[in-house]
Amino acid sequence: MKFLNLTRRTEIGANSYYLEIDSHRLVLDCGMHPKNTGEDALPYLKAIAGRDIEAILISHAHQDHIGTLPVVMRRFPRARVFMTEATAEVGSVLLHNSVNVMTRQREEIGEAAYPLFTHRETDRASDRWRWCPLRQRISIAGERAPQRERDALTFEFFEAGHVLGSTGILVRAEGKTVFYTGDVNFDDQTIMQAAVFPEERIDVLIMECTRGDHAKPEGWSRPGEEQRFAAALGSAFERGACVLIPVFALGKTQEILAMLYKFRRQRLLGDFPIYIGGLSSKFTDIYDRRAHMTRRQLSRLQLMREVAPFILNDETIRDAPVRPGRAYVLSSGMMIPNTLSNVFARRLIENPQHSIFFVGYANPESPAGVLREAGTGGEVALDPGKSPQRVRCDIEQFQFSAHATRETLIEYARKISPRKIVLVHGDPPAVEWIRAQLHTDLPNTDVIVPVPGVEVEL
Ligand SMILES: [Zn+2]
Ligand SMILES: [Zn+2]
Repeated sequence: MKFLNLTRRTEIGANSYYLEIDSHRLVLDCGMHPKNTGEDALPYLKAIAGRDIEAILISHAHQDHIGTLPVVMRRFPRARVFMTEATAEVGSVLLHNSVNVMTRQREEIGEAAYPLFTHRETDRASDRWRWCPLRQRISIAGERAPQRERDALTFEFFEAGHVLGSTGILVRAEGKTVFYTGDVNFDDQTIMQAAVFPEERIDVLIMECTRGDHAKPEGWSRPGEEQRFAAALGSAFERGACVLIPVFALGKTQEILAMLYKFRRQRLLGDFPIYIGGLSSKFTDIYDRRAHMTRRQLSRLQLMREVAPFILNDETIRDAPVRPGRAYVLSSGMMIPNTLSNVFARRLIENPQHSIFFVGYANPESPAGVLREAGTGGEVALDPGKSPQRVRCDIEQFQFSAHATRETLIEYARKISPRKIVLVHGDPPAVEWIRAQLHTDLPNTDVIVPVPGVEVEL
């Protein structure tokens, strides 16, 4: 078996991994980097140029896992592409949105390579995706394989509890097994239910490390954190605040809307206007449409109907009133320049009356990471093209990550006790903590931090 990390650095960038098993050549995920632009936003595809890729397996439809799929399909036209039906539905919306963003950026940042793919190419690509049911062995030809198939290559998707459609992928061939976690959560969220991952013998575990540098805070529980969040919103509104909550359009938006719905039902908060962006509303529609066929909590909740958020776009965000008692649940989660959360934050951060609540992961170098670090009293340039601003608004943080705690990652690795573990999808301190911990806990397991672009024999 061979493994090649196609991410350009040890970081949460454009996730993509090459796996060779029993002379089959596969690619796991093909993300787009959240901050890099142009060719640098792509995975390092040169490292596998000329190899005959048979299949591309997509774990879920976040930008950092599916964002460059049309490009990768163009470079490897023979490859079959597999994902869950929900990921396909969300992914196609995400990629079309990405074409629009790149087309705009072509002018804004002078990136001549943009768009990296077109609407037409996205349509043609998504026509070729094959939808896989969960917990079913699939052959490379895309057919259901017998559950006892041992020799021929098969793969099987397991629910990862991260966002709608998210999976971990088990690849089997010649009696060998490789399991890729994708992005996982082993705990319930407000909508998503915890991952259901394989517990059979696994030879190689390819594991995400997002939260490796964060210890679970003493006494933290999700219900407790929800209560704290409701109380903070209540006191911010009492103070006359408008509250901005930067979120990912897929996953965190719907989790927060579901929480706001619960707070209203439990009479923790009254009725107040809620705003979301256009892309978030499209993903929320998909959550609603698929509610009854998804293993989830609040399976009858129709967010668009019952929470009834107002929808903003790139134009209306510029003059949407910053009024007391409103919640703006806006993407992007990392507050990338020119996104709704970035534009809106620049309008309120100098006013001590208002609040920004962070609710999940942000790359430390992203505007959200920089703002969180600066805190009230600091100075930040949320948009490099504009002058820095003094942060006077209230800034609070809540822990509603869609990723597994490092404690539960270690617990899973210990339960499986694989021969090798490959650590991916983490910033260097996160990967290092997990590596050291596994080294102590599983002395007989070979723990590998794959250097980007360097092939590893598994
Ligand atoms: Zn993700
Ligand atoms: Zn990810």
